[in-house]
Amino acid sequence: MKYVSTRGGGPQKRFCDILLEGLADDGGLYLPTHYPQIDAATLARWRTLSYAELAFEILSLYIDDIPAEDLRRLTAQTYRAEVFGGRPEITPLHTLEPGLHLQELSNGPTLAFKDMAMQLLGALFEYELGRRGEALNILGATSGDTGSAAEYAMRGRAGVRVFMLSPHGRMSAFQQAQMFSLQDANIHNLAVRGVFDDCQDIVKAVSNDLGFKKSRRIGTVNSINWARLLAQVVYYFAGYFAATKSNDERVSFTVPSGNFGNVCAGHVARQMGLPIAQLVVATNENDVLDEFFRTGRYAPRGAAQTHATSSPSMDISKASNFERFIADLFGRDGARVQSAFTSPSFELSAAERASVEGRYAFASGRSSHADRLATIRTCQQRYGRLVDPHTADGLKVALERRQAGVPMIVLETALPAKFAETLREATGQEPPRPAGLDGIEALPKRVTVIDNDVQAVRAFIDAHVDAR
Ligand SMILES: *Cc1c(COP(=O)(O)O)cnc(C)c1O
Repeated sequence: MKYVSTRGGGPQKRFCDILLEGLADDGGLYLPTHYPQIDAATLARWRTLSYAELAFEILSLYIDDIPAEDLRRLTAQTYRAEVFGGRPEITPLHTLEPGLHLQELSNGPTLAFKDMAMQLLGALFEYELGRRGEALNILGATSGDTGSAAEYAMRGRAGVRVFMLSPHGRMSAFQQAQMFSLQDANIHNLAVRGVFDDCQDIVKAVSNDLGFKKSRRIGTVNSINWARLLAQVVYYFAGYFAATKSNDERVSFTVPSGNFGNVCAGHVARQMGLPIAQLVVATNENDVLDEFFRTGRYAPRGAAQTHATSSPSMDISKASNFERFIADLFGRDGARVQSAFTSPSFELSAAERASVEGRYAFASGRSSHADRLATIRTCQQRYGRLVDPHTADGLKVALERRQAGVPMIVLETALPAKFAETLREATGQEPPRPAGLDGIEALPKRVTVIDNDVQAVRAFIDAHVDAR
């Protein structure tokens, strides 16, 4: 399998080359040249596999520069019940009522679905860096879920160091405890005296200094990484098998969405031939994507027009993975993709709009703070199940978009314990924590408070990477 940029420039690459890279040189995102097609016999065989074996089968269709026995070992080591809350199914299905299910993607170490892909990324990075005899210093900015998932995936891994910037004093006590209690020597928490945007600006400034980036071997783990998306394709197959008895049936998925990474993996699964009836995109008040699916117009917003909501991991104004779907919609016309994503906004033709709904089977909806609270309460009363605010956004939209006779799977993207404040507001009660996480706020913290200053961050990195 070869990979190409959504904008059509540059040479074709192999998996391990794009694994350690971010954007393509022309500013595009990498996509495989084509999606392998799954025939009926293969789908029947996959139904009986364990999650780790299924992951191996799917990954090996897209990765031909890692020997099969190595890839099998990496997937087996990653998708173990011990890592995912003791659940042998890894992403178990929880049925709310006949035909309506939650698929649990949040049983990993940081209680959010980002673990599903990040854990595999950690294993792949360590493997590939070891093979090359190289090291990588991951620099990132986080307001919560991504940073902790990256740290738990990379902790203790040979060849990898993490420098994670977060806004000082602005994450929840639980989120701070999750990240700052890690004592691993290769994990560095930097609490910046500033807001999340300041952290992101510092990462950009450091990464744009190509000399520094190259000499200090700076890399990222952001959601445009193809390996993360590929890892997520697996649970769409697993969810389909768990919700159906035979491969003649179809299911729909509703996906709480921000950067379009999660639902884009569903798009890939559907393009491979998984019988998905509809892919429903659920947004919060930051509804750029819902607007696109309703009107055919994509108009990303600035940071100033991005609301801080009670489903904060979906507070985005510009969906970084969206370009991948548009590249498919535009028939991989790189010039057209380039022009669409370098303009302030773009609009689809009537024929393209029809194709988004028909051929690509997308639908959408949005949820507000009041909807979120009401859905958390109703779900608890009607089904005896607590959901987190992001999953509540999904469930709210799923109930609006459900079609008779088609099972609906809502992806559960985080556990309620992660968002205690909103859960208290909705239910008046403290959400339960998974075993072993009680009292983590009291653990010793390993964090360096640092000025909102690019030079200070550079100096910290220099003091902590091997001299060369
Ligand atoms: C990251 C995240 C999302 C959004 O996922 P995208 O891939 O960015 O669309 C939704 N819910 C939770 C809890 C998340 O952490």
